[in-house]
Amino acid sequence: MTMPKLTFAQILLTPRFGRLPGHFYTRIQPTPLPSPYLMAWNADLANEMGLASASDQPASLADYLCGNLLPQGSEPIASVYSGHQFGVNAGQLGDGRAILIGEYLANNGQHWEMQLKGAGPTPYSRRADGRAVLRSSIREYLCSEAMHGLGIATTRALGMAGSKQGVWRESLETAAVVLRLAPSFVRFGHFEHYRHDIDSLQTLADWVIQHHYPACATASNPYVALLENVIERTAIMIAQWQAVGFCHGVMNSDNMSILGLTLDYGPFGFMDGFDAGHICNHSDDSGRYAYQQQPEIGLWNLHVLAEALLPLMDKASALHALQQYQTHFESHFADLLRQKLGLLHWQDSDWTLITTLFELMHRSRTDWTYFWRNLAKMDETLRNHFQDRSAFDAWFADYQLRLSSEARDANERKAAMDGVNPKYVLRNYLAEIAIRKAQESDDFNEINALQQCLIRPFDEQPAFEHYAALPPTWAAQIGVSCSS
Ligand code: AMP
Ligand code: MG
Repeated sequence: MTMPKLTFAQILLTPRFGRLPGHFYTRIQPTPLPSPYLMAWNADLANEMGLASASDQPASLADYLCGNLLPQGSEPIASVYSGHQFGVNAGQLGDGRAILIGEYLANNGQHWEMQLKGAGPTPYSRRADGRAVLRSSIREYLCSEAMHGLGIATTRALGMAGSKQGVWRESLETAAVVLRLAPSFVRFGHFEHYRHDIDSLQTLADWVIQHHYPACATASNPYVALLENVIERTAIMIAQWQAVGFCHGVMNSDNMSILGLTLDYGPFGFMDGFDAGHICNHSDDSGRYAYQQQPEIGLWNLHVLAEALLPLMDKASALHALQQYQTHFESHFADLLRQKLGLLHWQDSDWTLITTLFELMHRSRTDWTYFWRNLAKMDETLRNHFQDRSAFDAWFADYQLRLSSEARDANERKAAMDGVNPKYVLRNYLAEIAIRKAQESDDFNEINALQQCLIRPFDEQPAFEHYAALPPTWAAQIGVSCSS
């Protein structure tokens, strides 16, 4: 028997984070958004959760997506956390523009915390307005789903509502709210906040273990087990980022998820031309969060987390756990590279093959996504994407030789490579086109088309062939910064 799909007017939220003691958060109502309209509804995710399609939802769906209306059982809160921003302890932060409206237990047993991003000020907004602008909401909505399609752990986006309400950034823009979901939005920064308050620290750690890492509860020290698990998940997530050329842009410890989810999409970017030192965030002057820095920064943030957890474990255990990071990262990254190259077994000598390739690509700014996707075709015209064509020819000959050392059917290899080298990623210029259409003519079709395409990034999708095109020349002018 199929269960009837529920509308927002029918669902019941049951708080879980909101059952922690009151000092973990502040109860706060979303600020009404004037005359909201529906911009996007994630039909696939809704269906998976047992929620009705947009057409079966009440006419007030946009009001639910921005917090003008709340589902039954909602007890909205903003949580307090701290964090290190650009390497500096920033002290207390918190959900400055995200409001957790409650938790939904879907028919399939999955728990989802529901957060409205951009729903108005909270006690943690400092002097900011609690809103998110249209462009940044579109980018978060699309990238969450693109990352999920790529098989990378991430927060999700269920829908988005816009409004003509003005929001000041460098100039006047308009507001949009994303309803985003995650099993939990707890960040490293939540633990940092309680590093001198052992009771709260333990309460929070116990809560995270109980709901999200139940297997850790039976370990000899559950908190060490928790740290080890977070280290492994973070290493895997960052190895996956590196493999698809994703740069997060603001890897502050308050943007690091305790579940190893890609979290807080701001000035992120998928690399077009490969540049090992690529900085996607124009506000990141020193390149702290450049592409090749990400693995190291992941470890740096884990050190911050481990330090916060020290009251619950001895230093030697924490250090031992941290030492595992490099091993996890390297083994996962090597495994991803092995698959990207279409190899069955990784040999240490394959690092040479990779380093040579990366150097060639870096020098030529070869398009990351295009190169990997087309490598599976064994297409010799790939040489045209390199300045030093004979150097590429030499690499390609070595690569062919390496492939011939493994007995693998060529068609099977191509299919396997196509399953790991995406054809479609959310290039900045694709997001930019969707943003301009939304801004200039309230046309949200591009957002929805991109979302449909990006959720299946490995498939050939003839209707979306244009989304696989190399960036146009104007793409080089797109700048993304912390302003959002
Ligand atoms: P971010 O760099 O976006 O991760 O934000 C860092 C901190 O600033 C977090 O505590 C955010 O909640 C807060 N914040 C960012 N933008 C706003 C805004 N427009 N209104 C209120 N708080 C904000
Ligand atoms: Mg943040």
